[in-house]
Amino acid sequence: MIDAHTHCFPPDLYKKCESWAHQNKEAHWLSLVAPKNKSSIQGWSSAEETLEQMDLAKVSKSLLLGWYWEHSATCRWHNQLMKSWMEKANNRFIGFASIFPSEAPIEQLEEASSMGFQGVGELHPTIQGFSENKENWYAMAEWCSDKKWPINLHVTEAMNLSHAGYVSTPFQDYLDLATHFPELKIILAHFGGGIPFFEQNPKIKTLLKNVYYDTAACPLLYDMDIFRNMIQLVGSHKIIFGSDFPLKLYPSTKQPPVMKTFIEDIRSNGGLSELERQRIFSENIIKILGNS
Ligand SMILES: [Zn+2]
Repeated sequence: MIDAHTHCFPPDLYKKCESWAHQNKEAHWLSLVAPKNKSSIQGWSSAEETLEQMDLAKVSKSLLLGWYWEHSATCRWHNQLMKSWMEKANNRFIGFASIFPSEAPIEQLEEASSMGFQGVGELHPTIQGFSENKENWYAMAEWCSDKKWPINLHVTEAMNLSHAGYVSTPFQDYLDLATHFPELKIILAHFGGGIPFFEQNPKIKTLLKNVYYDTAACPLLYDMDIFRNMIQLVGSHKIIFGSDFPLKLYPSTKQPPVMKTFIEDIRSNGGLSELERQRIFSENIIKILGNS
């Protein structure tokens, strides 16, 4: 069992989010983890605590995703930390690097590759300047396509009840990337924010042949019928389990984040067959990563 969408931040950051974000000019991250006049759904978990949660949830490996920072310096800082957590975790963490694609992406990618990362993400096309810096994003996409590195992209649901830190992500940006780089493996987070609907157009389905959808943050956004509906729309071979741990997926419980709750919810209420479960919980991501 693999959780393909988790994040990890260093414990000394939790208590000084505001001053750290101001110092590093990471305003968007702050608006998500510490929204003004709203309670935060962000939970925190050190690398060690994440491993404990994985044991309790019977998750053998987690994909540690980087963050869509607004500066390459912050990406480098985060990658160094993730590298140290990967080294201590005995192969239980797979790392996707934090990259700021709008600025010298190849240097960042080469560095991440030498550090043991196996993909890129989570990226945010709007926050990180896709439409203004397409050339750099294309250079990154080409490098990733050549090296068979998947890219995980955040997608904001197109219709929503405006939540803290909401920044829209136009669907056209994703179609643009998938069209220009047909061999690039793209994982769209959060069930693709509505994009799967358009896979009913056969021409778009063809263009999105290497696009996958992860289940991150699902309980905050959708009811569990989405699992069956998504299988109808795109097929179980395109859906990847990811939690978005340590986000508080069940905020009404007022508990610290528990990785196994969402897994149990899927098992009880997702209506999946054994084959679908195997694909979604492990086989699909293993295939995408090209290793076991
Ligand atoms: Zn996301």
